[in-house]
Amino acid sequence: MSQRARGPGPAGGGGGTEAAAMAGAADAVFPLAARRALASLTKEASRRQLQQQRRAEQGRQCRPRRSRRTVTVDSSRAKTSAEALRICIQQLKWKEFPAGRHLFCDVYWHGVSFHDGEVSCSSQVNKYPGMMEMTRKVNFSRAVRTMQELFSEEYKFYPRSWILPEEYQNFVDEVRLSKENDSSWKPTFIVKPDGGSQGDGIYLIKDSSDIRMLANLHSKPSVVQEYISKPFLIDRLKFDIRLYVLLKSIDPLEIYIAKDGLSRFCTEPYQEPNSKNFHRVFMHLTNYSLNVHSGNFVHSDNVNTGSKRTFSSILAKLSLRGYDVKKIWSDIITLVIRAIIALIPELKVYHQIYIPPGKPGPTCFQILGFDILLMKNMKPVLLEVNANPSMRIEHEQEISPGVFEYVPSPVDEEIKVAIIRDTLRLVDPTFKKNNYYQSHSTEYSAENDRDDITEAEAQGKAESSSGTEQNWPPLCLKQVFPKYSRQFSYLLIVERIALLFMRFLGIKGTMKLGATGFRTFIRTCKLSNSNLPMASVDILYIDIARRWNVIRGDRGESGMCLQAFMEAIFHMAQRRYKTPPLREQVEALVNFCEYQLEALDEKHFLYNRATSDQKSSLTMYHPETPRSGAVSNVHLLNRMSTSNRLPTSPLPASVDKQHVKSMNRRVTACSPAASINPNGWCNLGCRFCRNNHQSCSVIGQNDVRSQRVKLTQILHPFATWYFM
Ligand code: ADP
Repeated sequence: MSQRARGPGPAGGGGGTEAAAMAGAADAVFPLAARRALASLTKEASRRQLQQQRRAEQGRQCRPRRSRRTVTVDSSRAKTSAEALRICIQQLKWKEFPAGRHLFCDVYWHGVSFHDGEVSCSSQVNKYPGMMEMTRKVNFSRAVRTMQELFSEEYKFYPRSWILPEEYQNFVDEVRLSKENDSSWKPTFIVKPDGGSQGDGIYLIKDSSDIRMLANLHSKPSVVQEYISKPFLIDRLKFDIRLYVLLKSIDPLEIYIAKDGLSRFCTEPYQEPNSKNFHRVFMHLTNYSLNVHSGNFVHSDNVNTGSKRTFSSILAKLSLRGYDVKKIWSDIITLVIRAIIALIPELKVYHQIYIPPGKPGPTCFQILGFDILLMKNMKPVLLEVNANPSMRIEHEQEISPGVFEYVPSPVDEEIKVAIIRDTLRLVDPTFKKNNYYQSHSTEYSAENDRDDITEAEAQGKAESSSGTEQNWPPLCLKQVFPKYSRQFSYLLIVERIALLFMRFLGIKGTMKLGATGFRTFIRTCKLSNSNLPMASVDILYIDIARRWNVIRGDRGESGMCLQAFMEAIFHMAQRRYKTPPLREQVEALVNFCEYQLEALDEKHFLYNRATSDQKSSLTMYHPETPRSGAVSNVHLLNRMSTSNRLPTSPLPASVDKQHVKSMNRRVTACSPAASINPNGWCNLGCRFCRNNHQSCSVIGQNDVRSQRVKLTQILHPFATWYFM
């Protein structure tokens, strides 16, 4: 009996095990009759379960599978990434349009810049407007310099740099001063022409009086940078790391880092720079495009050997030698996030111009190439950020002397195909967004790395459950922002300055703030006082704007660029708050400006609201009022306009409720177009905001719900009186 009760019988199946367990447990406890009853019940349950399973199975077979629509990709302008992109599109079973399409596509893959060709408003494009400009050596150095002025410790990962010709004198003076302070310091500098790539025009110097550099002063702008003379070597060779970073969104900021990259080796054993080896490019420059022409270049199909290897193979080597690989990764992640935060303010200005907020426009994402050097002490140093990292999966091979052809490169293919494919997976327009990452911000720690696998798996599962045909491997891209946003949020002060700038830019399509816009900013934010009269404001504007226009060689458009505005903010902050360090001074000033703007927006809101309420209350309470009523209405309106003297009677509760309701409706209406950025500021395209195309400081802090509370608070009837 006990066997009958225990065994699931022919009806076993999945449910049978549960039933068997139940029955087994019952054996020990129940009397015989009870056990018989239970056994029959268990059998019945198993039978019913099996029937259900069969029915479900039949249903599944009969029901046509709801297939997701096919994603379309225009690859007609993909250039050198076309081959890798084609493989990814095939893997994902999407549809490629290599010659373009007369209808719009879901995704546009551009080879160079946002402006490569026309894109549809509802599409995604793999480039940000302004990214090319921002990653040029001079502009990038400037952006990092601004951050270094505020956060010198945090931005030490970028070598000390000077922009030529404008900073030549600073360069000479600073180097002299440093040498005087430390006589053992024997620096080498590397000069890189702006806009150059693949090592073009780069050379080393020991002294600022180098003739070529002086000649350079009269030609193209360039960056002169401290040369890292003690890099970490493997097999006595210098190497750098090309790491791929996906900037998925700038508002809110979303950054992913590829878990693997490439290491590119020099082809001549490294020696510390001296005047005899300055010209040896195969010793000092790690560029693949240069070293491939060296006789020592090793093409290898193995990711662990050769002159181009995977970064993971290097890490494995380091780990074997006992280095703390997790620390290296953590430093690299920090470097990447900080570098992107430096780029964001100006990128936002570009974005606003080319994709005006509140209007339909494409969604951008971009894969960036970070060139990183490991120093002897294992600290990563950022050499540059590439807006167009090569996505070529072939390499050049010399088939006969002087004759090169492209042959497949397994190392490139392994890394790059995964990156493009997973980027597409992340921007898949048919994939419902997984908000998991956005809602969880944690501190970065090496331990968090363990979570990555499970997170990636979770995301992979989410994708496959949302209908992807195959079970993909976990994403090779790891989200680092907003995941680790908490420890970087204080750096976003520069972004807040950019938002102030954008608010007063005025006419769309310009990147420069006019004199009137600057005056309006000063007045609106109540920055002018006895210490800074308006006359000084005008002089400040003219001085800074003119200087920056000369520096940037802007002859056409006059006005104040973002960098100039930042300088003005720094200047005013120092003038206003004398003692604390610059960073605190600037923060205090920005807080003050934001507070003024918020108060102003609330005031405008209440004014508009009061006016419309007034009108509606007129119709509400005096629908058929005769002439005499009209007089009393006029009286009411007058009372509103002089309400700073006469507190109005409280609004009826119903109106108050209506008000809150309409607020909530507005908040909801604005939130899809306007996102809450990491600062807690609601940005752009917000119908709630009076300045439709500007950042909305009404919604201001934190989240929609807290704002609702806040708005409810300010709807206190006396608030109307207070603000008017
Ligand atoms: P490009 O865009 O022309 O490749 P990079 O800034 O990447 O210019 O520099 C080219 C190469 O020069 C790098 O790959 C690296 O090997 C070397 N290099 C650049 N800057 C430094 C530096 N500050 N210290 C040491 N080596 C550097």
